[in-house]
Amino acid sequence: MNPKAKLIASFKYKKLRYTKNHPLRIPRVSLLLDFLLAMNLISPKEIVESREATREELLLFHEPGYIDTLIEADRCQCVPKGARQRHNIGSYENPVSPAMYKGSCLATGSSLQAAESFLSGVPAFNPAGGMHHAFRDKANGFCFINDPVITLEFLRKRGFKRLLYIDLDAHHCDGVQEAYYGSDEVFVLSLHQSPDYAFPFKRGFMEERGEGRGRGFNLNVPLPKGVNDTEFLYALEFSLDYVLERFKPEVYVLQLGTDALLEDPLSKFKLSNLGFLEAFRLIRSRLGEGVYLGGGGYHPVALARAWALIWCELSGREAPVEINEEGRKVLEAVEYEELDEEEDRSYLYRKLLDESRGGHIRKEVKEILRNLRKI
Ligand SMILES: [Zn+2]
Repeated sequence: MNPKAKLIASFKYKKLRYTKNHPLRIPRVSLLLDFLLAMNLISPKEIVESREATREELLLFHEPGYIDTLIEADRCQCVPKGARQRHNIGSYENPVSPAMYKGSCLATGSSLQAAESFLSGVPAFNPAGGMHHAFRDKANGFCFINDPVITLEFLRKRGFKRLLYIDLDAHHCDGVQEAYYGSDEVFVLSLHQSPDYAFPFKRGFMEERGEGRGRGFNLNVPLPKGVNDTEFLYALEFSLDYVLERFKPEVYVLQLGTDALLEDPLSKFKLSNLGFLEAFRLIRSRLGEGVYLGGGGYHPVALARAWALIWCELSGREAPVEINEEGRKVLEAVEYEELDEEEDRSYLYRKLLDESRGGHIRKEVKEILRNLRKI
């Protein structure tokens, strides 16, 4: 079999977890791998074992002093003096843990592997990537190393001059936006919960258009609570039209955070995994293949199902309707206390694909897109 696509992944993430009670402590990449194997949706030949990014690669974006502090914090598993104030390391949000440096290096190396695979003609998905909040010298929003920016820098070094970054995560990509604000080479497009009510609060407004030394390319589409499949796809289609009228990308990097799904405890959107899959299909139909990264997503079972669908689509498989017994066992074995408290979501364990969560497009969503046109 000649694989059409690759999944960059590793079971090493099992030992590289965030601290207890942190929203990102849940199994994600290893759960996806276990689930795909149990469902017979991947063969070993399609899996590429993740590698760690080198220091040189981390420095494609980050400040050396920041990386040294991360290394020191990792070595002692403590918060070095001044690290909290200077680099935002050691807070509840960005705690010291094995995930902090070793996990981030593995996720970043994997994003570069996905980019290399893409350049060799085999598209690839790195579910551990998409840590879009990290700044050059600061941790932010659970992110320590900004692998999307490092991936874009890697592609720029390979000679690409017009790069598009698309972010479907429910949260605005403040770290990526800041890295390219004012750039004429990288267009940053993000659809997200409005910062009026959601993290990162200070960034992600429509008015942030990227004015800088050149004309700048930046498009934020902040959306209201409760966005359904129809609204999300409508906004995405509109945004893609807007971008492609102004910018002809040679390559794109896509962040596929799953926290826009209804089940996600950290966001207010109401997407089904079918809507999420349709968004992926829409982007690929308009732009061809890109470099695919993961992102946020805090409901482990919803996340594993959604990324399994992305993998099926990418590898040319038809996704099965039912979850088989082996797959169900994998999902039921997830330890996640919040699952005990939530409403009846037994559908998550029976079927792989959700029913559509479509609906009408509310006035306020249309209004936002009308306003974009005016700017
Ligand atoms: Zn998010």
